Amino acid sequence: MFNDSKIKKITIIALSFYCSIALLLFCSIAFAGVGGEIDVSGPINIKELLIFTFLFLGGLGIVFGVGLAFAAAKFAVKTDPKVEQVRDVLPGANCGACGFAGCQGYAEAVVINPDVAPNLCAPGKGSVASAVARITGKAASALEPNFARIMCQGSWPKSVKRFRYEGVQDCRAAILAGGGDKACRYGCLGYGTCARVCPFGAITMNDDHLPVVDIVKCTGCRKCEAACPTKVIEVLPASRQVLVACHSKDKGGDTRKNCQVGCIACGICVKVCPFDAPSVENNLSRIDLNKCKVCGLCVPKCPTKAIRDYIPHRSKAFIMDNCIGCHTCAKVCPVNAPSGEQKKKHSIDKDKCIGCGICTARCPVQAIDGTFNASEVFAAAAEKKKKKAEAA
Ligand code: SF4
Ligand code: SF4
Repeated sequence: MFNDSKIKKITIIALSFYCSIALLLFCSIAFAGVGGEIDVSGPINIKELLIFTFLFLGGLGIVFGVGLAFAAAKFAVKTDPKVEQVRDVLPGANCGACGFAGCQGYAEAVVINPDVAPNLCAPGKGSVASAVARITGKAASALEPNFARIMCQGSWPKSVKRFRYEGVQDCRAAILAGGGDKACRYGCLGYGTCARVCPFGAITMNDDHLPVVDIVKCTGCRKCEAACPTKVIEVLPASRQVLVACHSKDKGGDTRKNCQVGCIACGICVKVCPFDAPSVENNLSRIDLNKCKVCGLCVPKCPTKAIRDYIPHRSKAFIMDNCIGCHTCAKVCPVNAPSGEQKKKHSIDKDKCIGCGICTARCPVQAIDGTFNASEVFAAAAEKKKKKAEAA
């Protein structure tokens, strides 16, 4: 790849080349006696012309070569070789997700600035973060992956259109036609601009004209977020999996007329949430991702099914023999599913359990299994134990 100094050198060489050609043409014409005040009547000596041309070009080449060598030595930009090494391990998507102007900008910043973390490349994920950390000598820390989430479920069959749009099949073009053809001006237009701009092929359009994100391919680079004209896409941390998939700020009645799956700001989620995570503002419910424990209690209660649960299957919790009867699970459960006497093994009422995984995460001895987050919780606890043993 070219860096700034290489580009400067190439520009100087190109300019020199074009100047030489121009000079050569000018001198050849003058020598050959064409035009102006030079006598054109005499014969042209081709041999002499060629010798002159070669001598002239050779001389010019030597002059410019010496000039370039001098300029290269005098104005050489000293770059840390680590910049090139980091640049080589970055994926080259130039997506800007790191907050810098492309991969070169990030490579320079992470090498030069001690405050720039080695794990800012979202498409590169963990392997690139470790490689950058190794090259720069910085501490590698895991970065929670981010995924693009489509904050609208108003597919074409589930939403109302104001008119028939027959222009260019692109959302950015469709929105120029009076704000788009959908009655809800906040919703996904469904012409697939996001799918086309995704450099990783992570978005496809389903048969109902809604984008579907493949989280295995999605790197959280935010290109789709920037391209979507209705700002329907949000790139969010992977652990935030219960979301109000609607952006409509229309009044509840209007939203209901325009879309079958929009948030009508009824506030039911606010009432049922045990952690005060949702709140309704501007006719729209929003879940505070820092408060939400992804228990999923609000999901079935929403009358329009506007809340999307990205945890596909919520299997129920069960308590294992290493339970110490501390009663923590009974205290944290939002649906009072665990019970038992202090210091005796507890049990979980399967009919009540909603598989939220809160007890699994809070159990001090990792005695609760079966929930979607159990393997992750156990792995984190094992890692913690290992680090503690190493430090001792
Ligand atoms: S999410 Fe945005 S860019 Fe993608 S299809 Fe919908 S309106 Fe178009
Ligand atoms: S998932 Fe649970 S914690 Fe999150 S908003 Fe819904 S009810 Fe509240």
